[in-house]
Amino acid sequence: MSDDIPSYEAVVIGGGISGMYLTYRLRELGMHFHVFEAGSDIGGTWYWCRYPGARFDSESWSYGYFFDKELLQEWDWKEHFSPQPDTLEYLNYVASKYDLRRDMTFNARATAAVFDDEANRWTVTFEDGRQVRGTLLITGLGVLSAPTLPNIPGRDDFEGQAFHTARWPHEPVSFEGKRVGVIGTGATAIQAIPEIAKTAGHLSVFQRHPNWAAPLHNSKITPEEQKDIKTRYDEIYARCWETVGCFIHTPDPRSALDATPEEREAFWEKLYSEPGFGIWIGNYRDVLTDERANALATEFMSRKIKERVDDPVIAEKLIPKNHGFGLRRLPLESGYFEAYNRPNVRLVDVLENPIERITPKGVQTTVEEHELDILVYATGFDGVTGGYDRIDIQGPGGRRLKDDWKDDLPKTFLGVLNDGFPNLLMVLGPHTSRGNIPRHIEKIVDFNVALIRHMREQGYSRVEARSEEAAKWLAQVVEVNENRLAGKIPSWQTGVNANVPGRQNIRVLGYYGGATRYREIAEQVADGGYKELMFR
Ligand code: NAP
Repeated sequence: MSDDIPSYEAVVIGGGISGMYLTYRLRELGMHFHVFEAGSDIGGTWYWCRYPGARFDSESWSYGYFFDKELLQEWDWKEHFSPQPDTLEYLNYVASKYDLRRDMTFNARATAAVFDDEANRWTVTFEDGRQVRGTLLITGLGVLSAPTLPNIPGRDDFEGQAFHTARWPHEPVSFEGKRVGVIGTGATAIQAIPEIAKTAGHLSVFQRHPNWAAPLHNSKITPEEQKDIKTRYDEIYARCWETVGCFIHTPDPRSALDATPEEREAFWEKLYSEPGFGIWIGNYRDVLTDERANALATEFMSRKIKERVDDPVIAEKLIPKNHGFGLRRLPLESGYFEAYNRPNVRLVDVLENPIERITPKGVQTTVEEHELDILVYATGFDGVTGGYDRIDIQGPGGRRLKDDWKDDLPKTFLGVLNDGFPNLLMVLGPHTSRGNIPRHIEKIVDFNVALIRHMREQGYSRVEARSEEAAKWLAQVVEVNENRLAGKIPSWQTGVNANVPGRQNIRVLGYYGGATRYREIAEQVADGGYKELMFR
């Protein structure tokens, strides 16, 4: 059939870190492909999340692309934990260096993707009605690309400025002397609150449940450090791939329960004073797996909050009671707890006095109305599957991906192919391993590109996971999740979002058998000639 709809060997959705690297690799294959991105430029997460205080929680020099040694040597990270503007500048540098935009169309939000079983190709429809076709559909949607607003009545009534942190305006927002409200106290709010507090006339933080947080200890990279980092990139890369989540930190082999109270205290003080995720991922090996060890770490972290917050009543409210330390993705902070010592910051406990509605003037709780000029929704995302659910993806016979994922666990093979959806290749789909995202993206893109190369060499135009192999992968995913304390805690990582209908139950959405194990399995599949997949 010939019509005016542009047709490609592969259509890629998403121009973030995944889509950019896909562009580089697919071009190497000489593939006829095109990338479609909802935003007006490259960058994904770092394009959308421009809220004040946004920055890496991982060491910059472990978090950029590693695929080209020249790029590693050319780029100077300015800070150990890069702020969002610098990160976006880096991604722009990458896009320009490899001329990536040439294969990209922006302002193209995909709304549907339908597979034609006979023609063996996907038709993708965008918000503005445009359509394109691709034999392969490759999704680089990230795991946090579907922001969610709170299900509070009256949101449209508010007469001031209101922003979700993941839809932050490109123009600067001034808080100078303004009455500002922030709803939410997750990793995003924990970065934004200390920044906003610096200039706001008054800041009200509407907290439902508090989260644990530890100091980031960011600093500028000195010229000596820069030199040293550049000589150590091979070592840093190797280090990432030795650890559970591809971060530079890995659990201490000792047990918290074997240590004396003095030893524990000294070790935790040391971790608390060091930059980055060490206190979370570099802690005693049983802190995240044994309830008794976790309770000890929880007690230490509670004490830290009490030490840093002047008002004991506020300190108590900032201590999480619904999950132990580290059982959700740990936010790192720069002066978060001290922000509550400022006279212009007020913690509003909306667990005690829930928000009833957003009014034209501000936020009405069960006891009072908080008048605001600016309202910030730091209310998070419909994690992992949310980005997919927002596109009406239909496989053969009109089978909908979102229906498959509605009540059941996704049945994927390695989180790359979903059972029953031919020629759909995902980059960070459900049931890929989790941790340092760019490290995972590079490996998964490489896996996908090698698979495409294999198809081209063999003359195949269709790939599908064998159902029984997807079932086996799911069984492994579930098994390695079984003893994880974090697997039992509601959060975006376990697929829970109180603001999304049907997303109230805990689901397993990642492979937690370790990044190295995941990589080994993927390599075995490729080396074995993809026996787990069906080709045509
Ligand atoms: P989040 O952790 O899911 O937090 C959302 C917050 O909004 C929670 O405090 C939640 O309270 C609150 N909330 C939601 N609906 C509400 C309602 N109706 N009323 C009152 N409060 C409501 O989202 P996030 O902070 O955006 O972070 C998500 C993830 O993004 C992080 O875990 C992290 O992986 C990533 N992130 C990374 C970085 C970085 O790398 N530097 C920075 C920021 C975020 P409840 O807990 O009561 O539901």
